[in-house]
Amino acid sequence: MKKKVAIIGAGIAGLTLANFLKKNSKFEFMLYEKEKSLPLEEGFGIQLATNSISILNQIGFNKINSENIFHPKNLDFYTIKNKKVCDLDLSQFNSENHKYTTLKRSTLIEFLKDEIYSQNLRFGKQIKEVRELKGKILIKFDDNTNDLVDFLIGADGIFSNTKSFFETNKNKPKFKNAIAIRLLLQSKKNLEIDEKNISIFMGSNMHLVVYPINKKKELNLVCVIRTKSYNPSNILTLIEREVLSQNHNLKDLFKSNFKSWPLYSTSKIIPSTNRKVFYIGDAFNGFLPTLAQGAGQSIESAFELFNLIKDDNLNASNLYFKTRLARVKTIGRRSNFNFFAFHFSTSIMQKIRNYFLRFLIKRKGFINSYLGTIYKN
Ligand SMILES: Cc1cc2nc3c(=O)[nH]c(=O)nc-3n(C[C@H](O)[C@H](O)[C@H](O)COP(=O)(O)OP(=O)(O)OC[C@H]3O[C@@H](n4cnc5c(N)ncnc54)[C@H](O)[C@@H]3O)c2cc1C
Repeated sequence: MKKKVAIIGAGIAGLTLANFLKKNSKFEFMLYEKEKSLPLEEGFGIQLATNSISILNQIGFNKINSENIFHPKNLDFYTIKNKKVCDLDLSQFNSENHKYTTLKRSTLIEFLKDEIYSQNLRFGKQIKEVRELKGKILIKFDDNTNDLVDFLIGADGIFSNTKSFFETNKNKPKFKNAIAIRLLLQSKKNLEIDEKNISIFMGSNMHLVVYPINKKKELNLVCVIRTKSYNPSNILTLIEREVLSQNHNLKDLFKSNFKSWPLYSTSKIIPSTNRKVFYIGDAFNGFLPTLAQGAGQSIESAFELFNLIKDDNLNASNLYFKTRLARVKTIGRRSNFNFFAFHFSTSIMQKIRNYFLRFLIKRKGFINSYLGTIYKN
């Protein structure tokens, strides 16, 4: 008999898992999303390193229209005044089939939903109650429909509601005293950058990243600013005070429409207390965006879980947690370190940081252990 799976949340993690399940005849599954549709209109970008590309290629990502994606060659580091510090050759981690890729988030979601739509995706679904029933998991939704499944997968993001039904050990995500601003640029404005690369500008208590997201020369900008509180109606003042005060030439960048988010990360990673319930993506662990690995880890976690349940591994719950924990701990440490190092506020610390950056970036051994182990495919 086919195993039944319910996935809660149609973000990158839930959709990736759904794609793998769809290709395996052992499973019957349904993806439940609380929103009324998928966010296909938003154009912001996402970076995917080779670790996630190698997995996505197994579900056909290599056939995506190449006009809608980009393969940046370098990561260029600048001071906030637009003075080049050094660059890292990102293509050293690429292989013929797996290349560091940037694209619009909506392009990725379009690709992931292609095989899943209508038959396996239900919108406007919120869980009301979940419990174990005769060795299975009974899910009751607030529209009075039910599902009885062999596996329940929480893929509902950093504030996972699924987790709250099973885990009594409350573990609220922590506000990182920082916000992110994202927008799309049609041109590089007056930035002195190579548009074919990823450019990172490091300032006092903030950094910003610009990268191409397709072959049409559209650029994505992400700006991370440290701040003790998040007030969406006050973002322009914050940009003026924390960014433009350091380089007024950046003012044209923020004339486009932007969106802002408070940044949270998971404070403690906890195992699922039920063998039939798993958490993937940000529901397992949410990171700061300073290593650009959140989506990558959503994809990896979905793939790891798929392999364990596909092989009927009786120890799936323990193995999944152990492997994931080790991986997210390493990535979490690197993301936190980058967050710290990108934002030094005194010029002496910035000079020391830049000196070490120039030195370390040329050391193959260091780069392989800092990034190569993350990007391995
Ligand atoms: C500014 C910024 C830049 C980033 N840049 C990158 C990058 O370049 N590269 C990268 O790899 N990562 C990046 N990330 C991180 C990445 O976006 C996330 O880690 C990733 O999208 C998480 O995917 P997910 O599917 O786990 O969760 P989500 O994307 O949060 O999806 C969860 C889904 O579940 C649904 N949902 C929520 N609650 C319920 C419920 N109760 N019932 C049903 N459905 C529910 C939501 O509507 C949503 O569709 C960035 C993050 C930020 C903030």
